[in-house]
Amino acid sequence: MARRESIQSGPGSQALIVDLIRSAGPISRTELTQATGLTQPSVSNIVRRLIETGLVRETGRAASQGGKPRTLLEINASAKYGVGVQLGFESITLVATDVRGGVVGRQLVNGAGSATPDEVTARLASLYRDFVVAVGLPAASVAGLAVVAPGPISHAGGVLLAPPTLSQWDDFPLKQALQSALDVPVIVDNDAAAAAIGEFWSRQVSRTESFACVYMGTGIGAGIVLDGALYRGSSSNAGELGHISIDAQGVPCHCGNRGCLERYAAPEAVVLAALEERDALVSLELGFEPESLGRDFDQLSRAAVSGHETALRLIQRSADQIASATVTLANLLDIDRIVLAGPGMAVAGSLYTRAIRGRLDRSFFARRAHSIAVDLSANPRDTAAIGAASLVLQGTIAPGHGPAFG
Ligand SMILES: [Zn+2]
Repeated sequence: MARRESIQSGPGSQALIVDLIRSAGPISRTELTQATGLTQPSVSNIVRRLIETGLVRETGRAASQGGKPRTLLEINASAKYGVGVQLGFESITLVATDVRGGVVGRQLVNGAGSATPDEVTARLASLYRDFVVAVGLPAASVAGLAVVAPGPISHAGGVLLAPPTLSQWDDFPLKQALQSALDVPVIVDNDAAAAAIGEFWSRQVSRTESFACVYMGTGIGAGIVLDGALYRGSSSNAGELGHISIDAQGVPCHCGNRGCLERYAAPEAVVLAALEERDALVSLELGFEPESLGRDFDQLSRAAVSGHETALRLIQRSADQIASATVTLANLLDIDRIVLAGPGMAVAGSLYTRAIRGRLDRSFFARRAHSIAVDLSANPRDTAAIGAASLVLQGTIAPGHGPAFG
């Protein structure tokens, strides 16, 4: 029995309880016992520990049938804060979030550009220090820092393996460098994975739903949350939606495959296609430079949304291609809910949402069994940074579900 208790009080059980209070709270101890299958003493012990650490608090009472009213439990949003950094070529975004995923501070600065990794690391360290002070977070309440970038990454080693737009960063040990500069726990992760956990957390998605976030930044990726935890695969590089082939005889991709979605539908591909039709797009004043890629794609998206014929055709084609790959993702994992996020979705997200909804309604394999909810992120541009901050918090307050700081 003692052994069973120790298993029942372990980090996995605590993660489960935190996640239930987060997604279903306010909730009583009795409901937690019913929902988890843990024993009543186990639930009481874990809840007592969570109350002692300040992470959970008692709030009001609910009437019960007979007996005394049950005390309800909720997450104490301001118990801890996480800081997330979205590292990009054109911009760097810092956000701080509370335990519920609410944003309490945000800063946007110039991106890594062509500076060396050492220079950027030193800049990130000083940005972090100033940001924590400016937002007014007490040092003891900051759980750590997570930096997210386009994959592939080595999650365990905290290394960016071959970031597509940050070519000097190949194999740079970012986690180690930042950790020794700052003396706080650091996580390095993939932007789409972080976005998924951020949306999952802040939308209070139920842990019983199979959830995916389709993310368009420089490339196209997906983060997948199953049973309340990020699905990482063998090396934390799961969900590479952008490298699903949509044409087996198509153009070669840097990944080694042919006809990858990203080579047709990502912002760079769309801007390159626009270059071919520049005469029809002259009024948009596109820069067609590596530094202006994000701005050019936003311009095209804006023109598409307001009905510019050529721009609309280009963006619509990208949306249809992503919709097609998303059906594959949904079919493989039998997904319940999809959220679209990332800077690429910030302007024309409604066009992408409509294209994906329509395609899933017509061709999702299990559509007779259930429909799939498709929503646009409330904050597509910052999703990955917000998600990074959530990763920090999940790793701290719900160990066993999030990534461990190592
Ligand atoms: Zn590829």
